[in-house]
Amino acid sequence: MLKTLAVMTSGGDSPGMNAAVRSVVRRAIHRDLTIYGIYDGYEGMVKGGDAIKPLQWNDVGGTLQKGGTFLGTARSESFRNPEGRRKAVLNLLQLGVEALIVVGGDGSLMGAHVLATEWEEHLEALKQDHPEAPWASSLPLLKVIGLPGSIDNDLHGTDMSIGADTALNHIVRALDNLSSTAASHQRTFVVETMGRHCGFLALSSTLAGGASWVLVPEEELELRWHQKMVHSIEKAREIGRPHHMVIVAEGARHPDGLIIGSDDVKRILTERLKLDVRTTVLGHVQRGGSPTAFDRIMATRLGFAAVDTLLDDPETEHRHMLGLVKNRVVSTPLVEVVEKSQAVRVEVENGNYARAQELRGGSFIRTLELVKTLTRIAPAQEIVQDGAVAILTGGADSPGMNTAVSVAARCLLNQGTPVYGVRDGFAGLIEGRFNELHWDELVNWVNRPGSEIGTARVDFQDKDFGEIAATIARHNIRGLIAIGGWGTYRKVAQLASRRDEFEAFNIPMILLPATIDNNLPCTQFTIGVDTALNNIVEATDKIRHTAGATRRAFIVEVMGRRCGFLALMSALATGAEKAFLPEKGISLAELNEDVTILKKSFESGKRMVIFMRNEYSSQRYTTDFIQRLLEEESKGLFEVRTAILGHVQRGGLPSAFDRILASRLGANAALHMLEAIESESDEVCVLGLREKGIEKVPIEEALKEMDGKNARPRDQWFLQLLEAADALANPPQSP
Ligand code: ADP
Repeated sequence: MLKTLAVMTSGGDSPGMNAAVRSVVRRAIHRDLTIYGIYDGYEGMVKGGDAIKPLQWNDVGGTLQKGGTFLGTARSESFRNPEGRRKAVLNLLQLGVEALIVVGGDGSLMGAHVLATEWEEHLEALKQDHPEAPWASSLPLLKVIGLPGSIDNDLHGTDMSIGADTALNHIVRALDNLSSTAASHQRTFVVETMGRHCGFLALSSTLAGGASWVLVPEEELELRWHQKMVHSIEKAREIGRPHHMVIVAEGARHPDGLIIGSDDVKRILTERLKLDVRTTVLGHVQRGGSPTAFDRIMATRLGFAAVDTLLDDPETEHRHMLGLVKNRVVSTPLVEVVEKSQAVRVEVENGNYARAQELRGGSFIRTLELVKTLTRIAPAQEIVQDGAVAILTGGADSPGMNTAVSVAARCLLNQGTPVYGVRDGFAGLIEGRFNELHWDELVNWVNRPGSEIGTARVDFQDKDFGEIAATIARHNIRGLIAIGGWGTYRKVAQLASRRDEFEAFNIPMILLPATIDNNLPCTQFTIGVDTALNNIVEATDKIRHTAGATRRAFIVEVMGRRCGFLALMSALATGAEKAFLPEKGISLAELNEDVTILKKSFESGKRMVIFMRNEYSSQRYTTDFIQRLLEEESKGLFEVRTAILGHVQRGGLPSAFDRILASRLGANAALHMLEAIESESDEVCVLGLREKGIEKVPIEEALKEMDGKNARPRDQWFLQLLEAADALANPPQSP
């Protein structure tokens, strides 16, 4: 039975590494393991002594919101040779370490693999020198679990690596800022992102930030690639585009294999176009800062799973990396991770770009194609006026809606299909308020908050159906894309249910899930929820920073309607001690228990406790009621404050995740719509992010997946994280 574990971070640091270590440490403590932290990566492992220390519960307190890694990281030359590794083995043996969890990039994971492979050999040799040592009877095996830590997102075996989402958000925010100054001065910006062999950051930020041109390492450029770029920027200026941004991944290459620097691009544009071109090399800004909600949650899930896997699966050799693939924790042999990750590098170096892209996977190739379409100056095809597609946004607005409209509309226009934006959702559909959407205006919508075409809440009256049918016929609408929440789903279903009466409703209708509440069927994430989650996490971090001399409990009330996603995930991402969820409700007995827990926590030295409360977790035990109850019962030991975050949660520019999800769903909606029109299908379906990626689900099935009474899906994947949220915020044996 495993008793002693060590954890370390290694290679380049990345935001979220702390969350992974915190999760490993606290899960290990819950499961009765002794856990050592190795400082400064493999350098500390070789050095031993003070560089390997036992970690306690409180040692990882307050680390969740911090960037970098509190364990430190270093590149270690001594570990690269067998003598260094033998010293490392001795250090681990002396402490009885039987398993190691390494958070790092492919180099670090390679190091872990080498260590595990050589373990027996080192052990045998060391036994010769120290035959009496207590560890001489140790098992000839070291279990190793790797966790992907890299801002570049260049690791095989995971959709995202820890830190990539934070880096992407930094870039996207920089592009948002640059686009406003670029627009004011008619300037062109060349922005260099990290990614020596991996175009993920450059490509994703071009998609999410609405840049005009992108250069990535995995793409083979034509000999005269610069002419195309110059032509594109020239045209964009002619038609009055407000800003132009070229994104260059630091490893992008000329056709001859030489690196294209951002200064090269600047020189080309300045010379050819006589433009005022500025270069921004984002550099280490991309690496730093507090991790996003996504990175904290992913790192926490992986750290938790790493400890559980080691204990619950003792028979396995364990030389694996755990990654997140389609939102599930997936284990891949370290050898495979390292070989495949490094293979892309080799292919890029050798100029085998097609192979490099293939190794990156289908999603990378599709994104590259989509970016090529969206960065066009004009649609590829002339508009053919034999029927249009209408797009509407329904219900409450949600961050990322504009991205979805912009991408879906441009993908349709690109194929020659005219597109109408319906003003103010279903109200505009009834009243026939349609605006034809044009390529140029859509280009600037990707990062805008709210909904440019407008949303409104309306309930259908019986007479409305006839009006809608007439509007559809009048504008020759051949398909409808509706983006919104549960109300939007139901309205589309209502239209479909009246098809016998209204011939005009026999058109394909596609729904895209967009709400900050994440309470929709057929998708793991809705457009907008990631932005809301980050808004909550940022606000809660600030609340934590107010911890002062007084002992204080905070009840932070968050949105979500009858779905606890935002409450639970923000608790997980901020380390809140508790989440009140509508799925569980609130009882008096539980509140009574909470009083006892709070008292013990504060008596044992805690200064701040945070409870996240979903707005609908109980009708009568409101945030205000709980505050008064807890404060009364505190008998002066602590204060209780509330923070009702309200509309701050739905505001602001959409996060990178929301923009990318919206882009992918928008592009898929356009594709399915064109197929449906072509095949004269009148399907009504939902597109969502499911177990296998983006999938299409018929509306009847979507309605069945919904718990109508509570307006949330019957099966909610995130509830599996309840145990982790509770275990990581509260030490064992605490009441
Ligand atoms: P990253 O993990 O971010 O890819 P590096 O490639 O610098 O960063 O690797 C981090 C450390 O992992 C190195 O400094 C070295 O100590 C160790 N390492 C990398 N590759 C190997 C290898 N082939 N054998 C042993 N150790 C290695």
